[in-house]
Amino acid sequence: MTATIIDGKAIAAKRRAAVAEHVRELVARGVTPGLAVVIVGEDPASQIYVRNKHKACDEVGIRSFQYELPQTTTQEELLALVRELNGRGDVHGILVQFPLPAHLDEDVVIEAIGLDKDVDGFHPESIGRLVVGKDTFVSCTPAGVMVLLEESGVDLTGKDVVVVGRSNNVGKPAALLALARNATVTTCHSRTRDLAGHVRSADVVIVAIGRAEMIKGDWIREGAVVIDIGMNRTEDGRLVGDVEFETAKERASAITPVPGGVGPMTIAMLLENTVKSAARVADSE
Ligand code: NDP
Repeated sequence: MTATIIDGKAIAAKRRAAVAEHVRELVARGVTPGLAVVIVGEDPASQIYVRNKHKACDEVGIRSFQYELPQTTTQEELLALVRELNGRGDVHGILVQFPLPAHLDEDVVIEAIGLDKDVDGFHPESIGRLVVGKDTFVSCTPAGVMVLLEESGVDLTGKDVVVVGRSNNVGKPAALLALARNATVTTCHSRTRDLAGHVRSADVVIVAIGRAEMIKGDWIREGAVVIDIGMNRTEDGRLVGDVEFETAKERASAITPVPGGVGPMTIAMLLENTVKSAARVADSE
């Protein structure tokens, strides 16, 4: 079997077009969605991510407010900015770009962001709401994974889903979202005894490890769906996922490429969350 390649770029473009339409409606009702993006220090990768977010906002008509703080910013200064943004009527989403410099406590910053503006879905209460099945902002990457599956016609009901990785922002919410869609979910991690065995048993494999091509193609069950969240730079400069793509695609029924799979969905979901927040404000006025 040769897999269908799940085209994350095309699916993200479709979702962004829908966001742009929603933004136009909100603007007509007097609410222009606004996203504040805060970056501390000069991490080059973070600067690229922030620039991309700014550009994506521009393209759909979301106003973006960019705050570039120096490396020497104190915890108190950062928290003061977050509190100010919590109180601003023209800001509907707040995103603090991680990683922060080592002297700043990311957990404290996450918890300072108002729940109603937590468009990254990192706040413990947002995650708690996801656990109990209440409406909440869902972390953008796992939310994007669910959209990719839906748009590819993959119904998770009754399926055996194996999630590899248990980070708070990616692996755990991906597992919770699959559970909410009635999958039977197994979460694997670095202490899992028989990773290959678990992957072999899966109808759907969702991988978020951060190790180049660690999941071997021959572990993939014939006809399984493979979602590769990993992004790894090889020594020769190529961007590869956590799954051995060339061999996996000969066994899977559908698979995401890296790049061009999950990656483009993350920003699309951030835009959707920002618009969702602005729509709540418009509805309450
Ligand atoms: P983390 O480093 O926070 O988590 C990695 C997870 O992988 C951990 O749960 C860890 O287990 C598990 N793991 C590590 N080694 C192994 C192993 N040998 N066997 C099984 N499990 C293992 O990473 P993130 O969740 O933040 O990100 C994962 C990947 O996804 C990265 O490549 C990242 O770049 C990418 N990513 C891509 C995004 C996109 O937009 N496409 C967005 C976010 C992330 P343990 O908990 O036991 O340590």
